[in-house]
Amino acid sequence: MSQSQFPQVRKLVTELPGPKSKEFAQRKQEAVSSCVATQNPIYAQYAGGGIIVDLDGNSFIDMGSGIAVTTVGATNERVAAAIKKQADHFTHTCFMTTPYQGYVEVCEFLNQATPGDFSKRSVLLNSGSEAVENAVKVARQYTGKPAVAAFEHAYHGRTNLTMAMTSKVSPYKSGYGPFAPEVYRMPMSNPYRDGLSGDEAAARTINWLEKMIGAKNLACIVIEPLQGEGGFIVPAEGFLQNLAKWASENEVVFVADEVQCGYGRTGKMFDSEWEGITPDVICTAKGIAGGMPLSAVTGREEIMNAGVAGGLGGTYGGNPVSCAAALAVAESIKKDGLLEVAQRFEKIIRERLSALAASDQRIGDVRGRGAMMAIELVDSEGKPDAGLAKEIQNRAYQRGVILLACGTEGNVIRMLPPLSMPDELLDDALGVIEQILKEI
Ligand SMILES: *Cc1c(COP(=O)(O)O)cnc(C)c1O
Repeated sequence: MSQSQFPQVRKLVTELPGPKSKEFAQRKQEAVSSCVATQNPIYAQYAGGGIIVDLDGNSFIDMGSGIAVTTVGATNERVAAAIKKQADHFTHTCFMTTPYQGYVEVCEFLNQATPGDFSKRSVLLNSGSEAVENAVKVARQYTGKPAVAAFEHAYHGRTNLTMAMTSKVSPYKSGYGPFAPEVYRMPMSNPYRDGLSGDEAAARTINWLEKMIGAKNLACIVIEPLQGEGGFIVPAEGFLQNLAKWASENEVVFVADEVQCGYGRTGKMFDSEWEGITPDVICTAKGIAGGMPLSAVTGREEIMNAGVAGGLGGTYGGNPVSCAAALAVAESIKKDGLLEVAQRFEKIIRERLSALAASDQRIGDVRGRGAMMAIELVDSEGKPDAGLAKEIQNRAYQRGVILLACGTEGNVIRMLPPLSMPDELLDDALGVIEQILKEI
């Protein structure tokens, strides 16, 4: 189901970057804040299927999906048609002044697609950060309590509150404080590093929650069920279930930040489903609208309705074009069988990388779910090897594969292919990684 009008092959026709991209890299330097970093100096002309074509006609395999956003492809036909149609009707009225159907339909979809068969309500916003901010708002409003528990390696965004909740200081936080108060950092389950079972890791975290915050002060626990920027850390089995149970027994709102791992990425609509948890509140963004800016908070009716009318919202939140795109994304996931594609991609990736890891000590761990897989790179003593990750990333780019790194230590290579990628391209990209590891 590659809806792409250009050939689905990796192909370099100039040196990198080519002359046209080079010109824009120069103009970028003179026009754009240097604090906005670009990983590769190639400028996109087309993208779709599993390919990004740059201004000079080079075709790259896209193993990043614009950071887990274009899950259904960057030129999905259903999405493009829905955007065009809505743009012909109207691009904005502001839902708070003159509402429209798309907003309500997206909320209806989210309320039924998220785990939990209790009554739910949703609010639509623009970015992942804004969704997390609003999840904290509703949790504080509902509980009347101030404190927020976030985790080691967590990433929740770049606004003031979400910077406070994000774990890694550089580049995200350094020099941008002071940060929002009442955010407490809790130990994460990280089985590859801590060797703890889910029960053991949860007991440790719950002890911290009780000793450092206290349930009577705690509004919410905010956690990524499968951590994204922090290194694709999959917690030990049972960790999240224990935390969710403790939260429900202590009148603490359990918030799942599924901005990166949600929306079909891991082979179910929400990663919480794999973990057997039913969050009180779920944040979605990234993959929700095929690249159009949209995010959402969905949760229990009594939590979402706790404040007064007008307490939530925003000028652009739930933009009608974004909503039309989101409805088309939902349709594509269902009708094009994309959850099955994500599960197939996991099999393909896991098989190749596990075989590689068995013969290469530098791959310390292979982990993830669905089309959200990673390798953690280590040196001969098992310590994080960020240099190797960078080297693999650079060489992959030179060969026409866009690869992203992540992890607090920068030593994790993550794979987030769009689900519109033909299997042959995925095989090709994995082959390039194998080849590079052989050479270094
Ligand atoms: C990307 C991300 C965010 C922030 O989303 P933005 O749209 O960049 O504001 C929040 N949480 C998680 C888990 C993310 O991956």
